[in-house]
Amino acid sequence: MIPINAPQIGEEEIEAVVKVMRSGVLTDKLGAGPVVTKFEEAFAKFAEAKHAIAVNTGTAALHSAIVAAELKSGDEVILPSFTFVSTAEVVVMTGAKPVFVDINPETYNVSPEEVEKAVTKRTKMIFPVDLYGLPADTQQMREIADKHGLVIVEDAAQAHGAGYKGKPVGAFADVTCWSFYASKNMTTGEGGMITTNDDEIAEKLRLMRSHGEREEYQSVMLGHNYHMSEIQAAIGCVQLEKLPKFVAKRRENAERLTSKLRKEPKLQLPIKPKGCKHGWYLYTVRLKDAKKRQRDRVVEGLRKKGIGAGVYYVNPIHLMPYYSKFSKHKLPETEKASQQVFSLPVHPGVTAEQIDFIGKSVLHLLKQVRQS
Ligand SMILES: *Cc1c(COP(=O)(O)O)cnc(C)c1O
Repeated sequence: MIPINAPQIGEEEIEAVVKVMRSGVLTDKLGAGPVVTKFEEAFAKFAEAKHAIAVNTGTAALHSAIVAAELKSGDEVILPSFTFVSTAEVVVMTGAKPVFVDINPETYNVSPEEVEKAVTKRTKMIFPVDLYGLPADTQQMREIADKHGLVIVEDAAQAHGAGYKGKPVGAFADVTCWSFYASKNMTTGEGGMITTNDDEIAEKLRLMRSHGEREEYQSVMLGHNYHMSEIQAAIGCVQLEKLPKFVAKRRENAERLTSKLRKEPKLQLPIKPKGCKHGWYLYTVRLKDAKKRQRDRVVEGLRKKGIGAGVYYVNPIHLMPYYSKFSKHKLPETEKASQQVFSLPVHPGVTAEQIDFIGKSVLHLLKQVRQS
C-alpha cells in the first residue's frame, strides 16, 4: 500500500536519538533541556517568530494556546467543523463554547465572511486551521479580530512549510500551533510547538508546559506536564533541516498529479489562492456533484489497487456524537465537502512512477463511476 503519509526517517535522525540516549539527559524538570532549547531556537527562526515553545503533542500546543488566551466559561470561539477533532476539543476543555462556521468550498478553509457573521458579544477568539496545508485567509480575519477585540490562534498543525503573503503561516495570528505527529510534514513521533511574538503569552505557555512552575515547587498558575523529551527534540532538529526538501518533493508530486488529473471534468483539484504557498500535507480532490457512496467507491477502488487514499474528514466535528450539542449554524458546504472529497498520497516517499500510477488509477475508476 502507498500510504497517505509516512514519516521520512533517515540515519541522521537515528544517530541524533542515539546521541541523546548516550548523553543520559532525556528531559528537563522545567520542560526545556539543551536539545529542546536548540530545537525551539531553530523553529522560531523557521517560523519567523520571537518565541517557540516545544510541547509533547500538537493537541497540547493547542490546549496551551487556549489557556494562555484566558477564555472564560461561556466565551465563544469561532472555528471550522471541517478539521481534526483536536481543534474543538481544546476549546471545550477550557469551558468555552465552540461556534462552528462553514467553509469556502474551493479552499476548504473557513471563509472570513462566515467568521464575521458569527461574531457576537461573547466571541473572544477566532481559531482558523490551515487545512491540508493551505493557509487560511488570516489577513482578513485579523481585520475582523482587531475590529471586535478578538484573539487569533492559528492551527498550523498541517502547514509546516506553507506560506502566506510572503511569510510562513502564522504571521497574522497572536499564537500559532504546530504538530509533529508521525503523519505530518515533519515529525518527532509525537510532538508540538507553539510560536508567538508576544512575551507575556510566551511566558504563560512555558508555565503551562511545566506545572505552572518558573522554579521547582513554586507553581504560580495552574499548569500541566506538556514537556517535550530530548529524544523528540533531537529528531525534530534533523527533520526541520530536511523540511524544505520534504515540502519541495511534496510540491513536485502534487504538480505532477495535477498534470495527470487536470483534464478530468468530474474532479475539482486543489487550488492555490493568490498570496498562498501550499504546504501539500494532503492532496485533496473533490468528486463534483457526487453522492457519498460514489466517492466511497472510488476510494475503495484505489485502496484495492494499493493506493492509500483517505477521506479528511468523513465526519465533520459538529456531526460527531459528543459535539452535536454545539451545533449552531447550518454548515452545508462543510457537509457537502465531507461527502465528496478524498485525498491522494504525495508525501516525499512517493515516486514519480507511483504518482503516474495514482493518476491513471483515479481516471480509470472515475470512468466506472460515470457508467454506474
Ligand atoms: C494533527 C492535527 C492536530 C493534532 O496534533 P497532535 O500532534 O496529533 O496532537 C490538530 N489539528 C490539526 C488540524 C491536525 O491535523
